[in-house]
Amino acid sequence: MHEVQAKSILSPKNGMNIYRGCTHGCIYCDSRSECYQMKHSFEDVEVKVNAPSLLSKALASKRRMCMIGTGSMCDPYLPIEKDLGLTRSCLEIIAHEGFGLSILTKSDLILRDIDLLRRINEKSRCIVQMTLTTADEDLCRIIEPGVCTTERRYEVLRKMHENGIPTIVWLSPILPWINDTPQNINGILSYCARSQVKGVLCFGMGLTLRAGNREYFYSQLDRSFPGLSDRYRQVYGNSYEVLSPSNASLMKLFRDTCHMYCMMSDTDEIFKFLNTFPDPQESFFWF
Ligand code: SF4
Repeated sequence: MHEVQAKSILSPKNGMNIYRGCTHGCIYCDSRSECYQMKHSFEDVEVKVNAPSLLSKALASKRRMCMIGTGSMCDPYLPIEKDLGLTRSCLEIIAHEGFGLSILTKSDLILRDIDLLRRINEKSRCIVQMTLTTADEDLCRIIEPGVCTTERRYEVLRKMHENGIPTIVWLSPILPWINDTPQNINGILSYCARSQVKGVLCFGMGLTLRAGNREYFYSQLDRSFPGLSDRYRQVYGNSYEVLSPSNASLMKLFRDTCHMYCMMSDTDEIFKFLNTFPDPQESFFWF
């Protein structure tokens, strides 16, 4: 890792990345793409050491309360967060100032901060989002080797629910000929239903590949799924969108199952939930 003094912390849409780069090792990671222009190796994580003071100033200058988002590009709960505590410091500021939070991670380290997540949720709204891609624990260790597996993430989701914190699951990405099966989609949605998540985000049964992440993904396929990268090249060429041949039937299964378990599956509805700072009446509506 290397430390930097950042110039700013909040994007125009109130998102923040305290870390740039990641050590979780997901084989399909889009954040490796060249378009993000990381000038360092992806595992040599850039640490914005002044993130808490920047956030403090940014929130003090806001005219209206809003939701603060983090985790959409790089995970806020990398192993280095255990010692650095920068995510925790930022949550303390959000809790103190009364802003809302939507936070996305794959790591069970988020349980360390459940006291702050509860505080934020009691004052405004805190939404915890977790990514689930496979119900097969062995496959999970191959495609997401550096972070806790699905079973443990399910326990995190349950724990959040027990503490009154609403959750959203990202069912993404789905990798053709690896996890694009009805059994897998049913398995993930079963985890979601049992942990009573509010909604499941899915943008199609596939993944995106572009310069930077495509090369890494294919090199990892060659290590763990010999011959499969050639199949991808033949079928998808240099396409950005890589949809499973079973996309249509799996999306129907996804929507029908979410409907059956009363989980939101409409992306617009879910993003509205994630981005809307609640007034007291809205809070009542959602719970
Ligand atoms: S957790 Fe996210 S940023 Fe980290 S390697 Fe996985 S996909 Fe990439």
